[in-house]
This record gives sequence, C-alpha cells and structure tokens, in this order.
Amino acid sequence: MEKHQLELIELAIKDTLHVIQKQEGGKLREGLQETPKRYAKAMAHWFSGYGADIADILKVFEDGADNYDQMVVVKDIPIYSHCEHHIAPIFGTATIAYIPNGKIVGLSKLSRLADAFARRLQVQERLTTQIADALQEHLEPLGVGVLIRARHMCMESRGICQQGHHTITTALHGVIKDEPETRAEFMSLAN
Ligand SMILES: [Zn+2]
Repeated sequence: MEKHQLELIELAIKDTLHVIQKQEGGKLREGLQETPKRYAKAMAHWFSGYGADIADILKVFEDGADNYDQMVVVKDIPIYSHCEHHIAPIFGTATIAYIPNGKIVGLSKLSRLADAFARRLQVQERLTTQIADALQEHLEPLGVGVLIRARHMCMESRGICQQGHHTITTALHGVIKDEPETRAEFMSLAN
C-alpha cells in the first residue's frame, strides 16, 4: 500500500475512534494516539492479498512429479481473513489436496496460496472456491480438494450463531469430486 493510501485509512480510523467514544473530535487520548497509524499498517497486511501474483506463487515444477499420482495433502493451514460484510475476522484452518498430473508445487506454496486469497475481503465460500480454482487452473491436476473450517466473529459475537461453532465449506474438482472413493479419502483426511 502507498503512503497516501495509508494516510487515508488513518484519517478514517481517527474519525471512527472519535465517533465510537462519543467525542466531538480533537485530540485522541494517549493510548489511542498511535492507533490509526497502527491500524492502517495492520490493514495493509490483512489486505495484502489484492497485490498477490497467483501465477508466481504457483510456479510449477515437473521434475519429481513423474509417476506420482497419489493425493498430496497439506492439513491445518492457518486461515486469517475478514468477512466482506462487517470487516470482522474469519479464522480457522484449511486442508488443501491435489492429485498431480505431471506438475507439482512446493508444499509451502499451498499455504501462500491460501494467504493470497484470505488476505482480502471475503465470504468463506468464495475463499474456498478461489483456492481450488487457482490450483485447477495452474496445475491442471487430476483432482483438487479444499476444505475450510472457520469461525466468524461477526456471527459469534452478535449471537447469530453459537460461540465456537465452525462453518465448513468445500470446493472439489476432478476425480476428488467425481469418484466416491477418492472423495471419501479426501474427506476423511480433512476431518
Ligand atoms: Zn460478517
């Protein structure tokens, strides 16, 4: 994020802090004085996914992939996102799996991919689909499976759903979607 963009957020947050404390404006109390600046910086991090180059993250290599046609699974990838309706945290874990068809990626790339989409304004359904679709597009694997378990602060804190409840979403492609046995294998690995 550019300096002037950070400053715009700072100004908006400063106003917001005045309003929520029922103040008319003026100087923020000491503990809050650096908050707009810090918040703008944090936002730049939380929403850095908009600048992510997905093709670069998913640069594939073909060496080492030959004859490997079993499921590659990375479990419990941390997810930190924000809902687009309230800008409230969504946090949980993702399980990402694919069955290579001659192309593989470094395993750390799967969590980078999840981050690239999580660090945007999201709904959990779209986040799940975007990760699965990106893998499908760039790796052209035999199958893809993505399962996200997440908690939504906007729902829990306002009593719309019970505290501690997880929302589960899945996005499946290829044989992981179409072959019952492969699908069951993914679901048991993910749960
Ligand atoms: Zn929300």
